[in-house]
Amino acid sequence: MHKYLKKSFSLNKAVLFIVIINLCGPLISEESTTMKVTSRNIIWAGIPFKRVQSGESNHRFIWLHGDEKTAKMTLEDYVNHNPSIAFFIQYSEREIPFKGTKVDPNRIFSTAGSNKALKKFKPNWDKNQFTEALTMLENGRKKFLDEIFPTNGGVLISLHNNFRGYNVHSEIKNSTSISIKKGQNPRDFIICTEEEDYLKLAQGPYNVVLQDKKVGKDDGSLSWASLDYGIRYINIEVRLGWLSKQKKMLNYIHDTLLYENN
Ligand SMILES: [Zn+2]
Repeated sequence: MHKYLKKSFSLNKAVLFIVIINLCGPLISEESTTMKVTSRNIIWAGIPFKRVQSGESNHRFIWLHGDEKTAKMTLEDYVNHNPSIAFFIQYSEREIPFKGTKVDPNRIFSTAGSNKALKKFKPNWDKNQFTEALTMLENGRKKFLDEIFPTNGGVLISLHNNFRGYNVHSEIKNSTSISIKKGQNPRDFIICTEEEDYLKLAQGPYNVVLQDKKVGKDDGSLSWASLDYGIRYINIEVRLGWLSKQKKMLNYIHDTLLYENN
C-alpha cells in the first residue's frame, strides 16, 4: 500500500470509529429507558389484534380504530416506557372487513350491537349467512373480553381520536356527572365508568364525564360491555394529531389512577 494511501486509510478508520461511538451513544442510553417488549397475535372472528406486553400490570390498554393514528402513537410510546399490556387492532381504517361487509370494531361487544353493526353497510343479508356471521362474533367475544379485561380491579383504558364535530358536549346526555373545564378544548376529554375514578380525575385539569349507567340503547361499544361486566373503563378522546396532548392525558391518568400509591 502506498504510504499516503495507508495514512488516509487509518484516518478513515479513526473517523469511522468516532462515527460508531456517536451512533452508539444515544442508542445505548435510549435502550436503557425503554422496556423489553414481547408480542403475539390474537384473532376474534377473523379480526386481528396484536397483544403487546412490556411488563407485569393489572391494567390493560386498547387501540380499536385503525385510522386514529395519534392514539396508536400515544399507546406505543406508553408501552415502551411503562410495564404494561396493550392490544392494537391490525388494520388501517376505522371499519374492518368482515363477511362481505365491514364493521366498526367498537360496535360488536354485544349481541344487539353486532346485529346493528353487521347491517349498517349491508342491509340485505341472506338469513343463513347473517346467522353465521353473528354466531362467529358471539362465539369469540367472551374469550376476547377475557384477554383484554384488566385483572385484580385494574383499569381498561381505550384510546381514541376524533376528527371533527364530536366533543364532550355530545356525551352530556349519556353522562351522570360532568366536569368541563374552561380553557380545555371540548374535543379533548375523558369518559370513565367508575364514580371513584371520576371524582379523582375531575379534580385535575381535563374535561371528564362519568358514565356509570347505561343510558339509551346498547350500542355494542366496549364501554357498555365494561359496564355489563363491572370493569373500570376509561376512554381518552383527543383531537387527531394532538399527540402531546394525548400523552399528557394518559400520563395524568397513570399518575392519578394507575400508580397512585407508588
Ligand atoms: Zn375511535
